[in-house]
Amino acid sequence: MIKAVLTDIEGTTTPISFVKDVLFPYSYEKMEEFVKNNLQNPQVQKIIEDVKKEINKSDASLEEVIEILKSWIVEDKKITPLKELQGLIWEEGYKSGKLQGFVYPDAYNKLKEWFCSGIKIFIYSSGSVKAQKLLFSYTNYGDLNYLFSGYFDTNIGNKKDKQSYVKIAKEIGFNPSEILFLSDNSDEIIAAASAGYNVIRLVRPLDAEYIDNFPYKQVESFDEIEIGRL
Ligand SMILES: [Mg+2]
Repeated sequence: MIKAVLTDIEGTTTPISFVKDVLFPYSYEKMEEFVKNNLQNPQVQKIIEDVKKEINKSDASLEEVIEILKSWIVEDKKITPLKELQGLIWEEGYKSGKLQGFVYPDAYNKLKEWFCSGIKIFIYSSGSVKAQKLLFSYTNYGDLNYLFSGYFDTNIGNKKDKQSYVKIAKEIGFNPSEILFLSDNSDEIIAAASAGYNVIRLVRPLDAEYIDNFPYKQVESFDEIEIGRL
C-alpha cells in the first residue's frame, strides 16, 4: 500500500522549460545589478570570494567575477557559489512578483488529493532545497509548501544512485514498498525501482518521449496515476 509519494520537479510537476527558459535567463539578466546592489550583504561578499577561489585569482575585479558568473550560467555549470547567488536572485524575483513558479494543473490537483487523503508527499530535485521551497511558495496556485512533508536535493546523493533512495526511505520512515517515486528521468526511475520503490515515469509531451519496452509504467499526466491501484 502506498503511504508516501516522492516526486521530482523538472519535467514532472513543472515543465523543464521553466528552469531553462525562465529561471536561468532571469538570473543571467539580473546578475550584474544584483551583485552591485548587494555588495554590503555578507552572503554576497562570501560568494564573490568563493568565485575568486574557484578561478584561482584572488585579485579578480568585480567586473571579472560578474562575467565569470554569467559565463557559468551559459555553460550550465553546477558550481556552488553560482547556485547560491542564483538562489538569492530568484528569491528577490519571486518576492517582488517578477517570477512565478509553475505547476501543471494535473500535478496540483493530484498532489492536493493525495495530501487530503493522508498520503505524505516529499520532493527530490537537483535544484537546492531553498530553490524548491521558493518555487512552491510562489506558484500559479499560490503557496503550495503545505502539501509537502519534506524536501531532498543532491546533498542526500545523486538522483541516479540507488543508495540515495535507500537513504531517503530511511529518513522519511517508510519502507521502499510503501513509496511511489515520480520522475521524467529513466535513470532515476531505474535507481528508485532497484531500491524497492514503486515507480512511474512522467512523459510530459513537451519534455520527453515514451521509451519503448521500458519496464516501468509511463504516463503523460498525474491524472493517469491511481495510487489505490498500485
Ligand atoms: Mg526531472
